[in-house]
Amino acid sequence: MKSFNVPQQYRSPFVTAIKIKRKAADKMKKDVSPTRLDMGSLQVVLARHFGFCYGVENAIEIAFRAVTENAGKRIFLLSEMIHNPGVNADLQALGVQFLMDTKGNRLADWDELTADDIVIVPAFGTTLELEQVLRDKGIEPSTYETTCPFVEKVWNRAEKIGTDGYTVVVHGKPRHEETRATFSHSKAHTPTIVINDMKEARLLAEYIRGERPEEEFFDDFAGQYSKGFSPKTDLQRLGVVNQTTMLASDTQAIADYLKMVIVERYNLLPETLHQHFADTRDTLCYATADNQGAVYGMLDEPADLALVIGGYNSSNTSHLVELCEQRLPTYYIENEDCLRSGTSISHFDMHRHESVRTEDYLPKHRPVRVLVTAGASCPDAVVERVIEKLAGLLGASAEFRNRVAEWTAA
Ligand code: SF4
Repeated sequence: MKSFNVPQQYRSPFVTAIKIKRKAADKMKKDVSPTRLDMGSLQVVLARHFGFCYGVENAIEIAFRAVTENAGKRIFLLSEMIHNPGVNADLQALGVQFLMDTKGNRLADWDELTADDIVIVPAFGTTLELEQVLRDKGIEPSTYETTCPFVEKVWNRAEKIGTDGYTVVVHGKPRHEETRATFSHSKAHTPTIVINDMKEARLLAEYIRGERPEEEFFDDFAGQYSKGFSPKTDLQRLGVVNQTTMLASDTQAIADYLKMVIVERYNLLPETLHQHFADTRDTLCYATADNQGAVYGMLDEPADLALVIGGYNSSNTSHLVELCEQRLPTYYIENEDCLRSGTSISHFDMHRHESVRTEDYLPKHRPVRVLVTAGASCPDAVVERVIEKLAGLLGASAEFRNRVAEWTAA
C-alpha cells in the first residue's frame, strides 16, 4: 500500500515496529490474533489492526501540504478533516480554520470567502451542493481534496445502482459528514433514503409493504429522503450501500432484512430477485473490516478490561467500543490524559453521549490484563503513550522500555 508523508509526531517507532513485523509474518492478513506485550504487572493484548488507515494518512498528508504550500493565505477546512481532536487541533494551531462543525452548522462567515482562499475537503468527502458553493466563489474544491477513495467507491456504487433503476438505501448515520456526502452524490442519480439502524429498516419495511399511510413517511424520515421521493413508487426496487465505518454485522442484518421484505412483498424467486433488489455487497471499507475483525481476535483472549482509543465523534471507533463492551468492562478514551491515576479514568459513555469518570477501573490483582485498540483516525503515537502511561501506573515502566527496545531492535 502507498506510504504517506505524515508528520512524525503521529508516528510511534514502537507501534510501527510491531505492525511491520506482524505484517511481514502475515502478508495476507489472515491472522487476527493480537500481539501480547508482557510487562510483568501489566499484560497488554494489542489488536492486530488499528490506527491510521489509508484515507486518514492521505488526508493528513494533503492537509499539511496545503499549509506549507500556501504561506500567507487563509486556509479553511470544510469541517473536521478526520474525527481526531489532536490532529484537528494541530491544524488549527497552524492557522487552519473550520468552515463548519461536524453536523454541518456554519462556523465562519461564508460571504467572506474569496477565490484567494484555500479550502480543504475532508476525508469524508462533501456534498455536490457545497462543492458548487465553493466553485461559485472561485475556489476549486479538488485542489486540496482529501476525500478517501473508499468513500468515492460508495458514491460510484450508488451511481451504478441508481443508473440501473433502483432506489438507493444508505445505511449510515444521517448527520455524519460521510453519509451526508454519499446522500448528496446518490440523489443526483436516483431517489435515495438514509436509514440509521434496524429500527428504521423495520419502519421502512412497513412502507414497502404498504402498511402505513404514505403521508406519515415524510415525518418518519424527515431530512433523510431525496426531494420528490415517493414512498409508493420509489420503494419497489432497492439497492443498499453503507457508510464505510458501520458495524459489519448491523449492515449485513439490515441488507438481509430488506431483501427478505422485498422477496415477500413481490413473491420473488432467486432468479427474479434482481428485478426488485440490486445484487450488491456492503460498502464497508477495508480498515473497518480489518479493525473489527481484529477486535474479535483480541476478544478471544481473557482480560480484565479494554481500552479503545479515538475521537469521541469517530464512527468507526464507536463500533469497536460496541464490540468490546459486550464482553468486558470497556473504556472509550481520547488519549493518555484520560488515565488520570491508577484508580480514576475519564472516558466517553456512548449511550449517554457524555464524558464520565469511573473510579477503581483497575482490578486489585496482578498482573492486570488489558485489551487495547484504536480507531482509524487515532495516531500510533497516542496508542504508545496510553500503554506507557498505563505501565507507569502499574509500576511496569522498566518492562515497558524493555518491550520497546526488543520490538524496535533491528
Ligand atoms: S475509515 Fe475507511 S473510508 Fe474512512 S478514511 Fe479510513 S479507509 Fe477511508
